[in-house]
Amino acid sequence: MKTDSLLGGIEAGGTKFVCAIGHPPDDIHAVERFPTTTPEETISRAVDFFRSQPQLPDSIGIATFGPADVRPDSETYGFITSTPKSGWSNTDLAGRIARELQRPVAFDTDVNGAAVGEYLWGAGQGTQNLLYLTIGTGFGGGALVNGQPVHGLVHPEMGHLFLPRAEGDNYEGNCPFHGACLEGMVAGPAIQAHWGTPAEALPPDHIAWSFVAHYLSFAVTNMILILSPERVIMGGGVMQQEHLFPAIHSRVQSHLNGYVKAKELIDQIDQYIVPPGLGSRAGVLGAMALTL
Ligand code: ADP
Ligand code: ZN
Repeated sequence: MKTDSLLGGIEAGGTKFVCAIGHPPDDIHAVERFPTTTPEETISRAVDFFRSQPQLPDSIGIATFGPADVRPDSETYGFITSTPKSGWSNTDLAGRIARELQRPVAFDTDVNGAAVGEYLWGAGQGTQNLLYLTIGTGFGGGALVNGQPVHGLVHPEMGHLFLPRAEGDNYEGNCPFHGACLEGMVAGPAIQAHWGTPAEALPPDHIAWSFVAHYLSFAVTNMILILSPERVIMGGGVMQQEHLFPAIHSRVQSHLNGYVKAKELIDQIDQYIVPPGLGSRAGVLGAMALTL
């Protein structure tokens, strides 16, 4: 899918913002990255980026870190809500962008944005029901059902699932809310806190990775059972460990034990649980995709 409209995207991350303008996925006219500082300064830089372009975009998509209010009928729609990120609680991110640039704004979580981007242009093409997971500083999950991002009371929080403990793993986990939830065991900072070594420095044969594969495979299995996605995309820094993919494939098949009758699970799991197709551009393309 290519668009005639000139689109803007803001990937609003906890550590950096990425702004882009153009006709995605291929014709991107300009991209700018800057660190996330105060809301005042950061949002102004995003506004300045779009004002400095020859033409303002027709509409702007914001894919944001959370928690965020993504319910259009809510009084605080478009706000970052109760984030631990200093200064950002109760920030009207979408409203301010819309007012300053006088353009329609689409607003969703970073992972729902990435899911929509992958659905339109990346590894999710050809599906209508899709799961996008990222394992990095945290664990984020976005889901599309019938091509639409899933919202609910707030938005899904798949990173905080409770899972059976791996045999021999005594780590208490580092989620401030739940200890040994999924994110508390497999996100990069949890791996580092457990082993005293950054995740990227652990060799592929380290037992840490069999624990990570254990938790990720149970998480993905449960998600497959609940949502019946047509594809599962797994990205983020931790999934740079490519050996995790085959380890997850075989464990998911073993947990399901042939119960779900789908050739994608039984014969083609290496094409079913896959890395993102949009690589490092997934975030900002996902933001642009939200406008569509
Ligand atoms: P973010 O979550 O902030 O968007 P990333 O997805 O890059 O960013 O995640 C950063 C986390 O991923 C860090 O905790 C880091 O230790 C971990 N990480 C980055 N690269 C690798 C790698 N090659 N192998 C394992 N872990 C990695
Ligand atoms: Zn948790």
